[in-house]
Amino acid sequence: MTHAPSPFLTLPVTVDYRTLPTHVRNAFDQHMEDADHARTDATYKVAMVQASQTAGIAVPASLDIARCSCLNDTGGCGCGSIFDTALPGAVVTAANDPDCNLSQLQCPACGHDHPRPITD
Ligand SMILES: [Zn+2]
Ligand SMILES: [Zn+2]
Repeated sequence: MTHAPSPFLTLPVTVDYRTLPTHVRNAFDQHMEDADHARTDATYKVAMVQASQTAGIAVPASLDIARCSCLNDTGGCGCGSIFDTALPGAVVTAANDPDCNLSQLQCPACGHDHPRPITD
């Protein structure tokens, strides 16, 4: 892992899923699905890079992004932020399902304002 400047540094760090055109959302969903079901670390990282690029955000050093779980959660505020899961303040709201890779997370803003951390 090198620390050379990313060519994507001028891109935003987060984007709101709700503002993306439908075809971009569909492509993003597919890449996240691929990441969720990736069987190898390499496959997972490729899917995450593709998801980041599809969403139009800077590919984070963590190679791990999430869409705020407030979008679909019962009682969620509807936030659709796509963000780097390594950002301080992101809150895990649900663990990954069996045979899946992705946990559910709230973005740092939601995690600060109305956190719903895992209770079990
Ligand atoms: Zn949020
Ligand atoms: Zn929220």
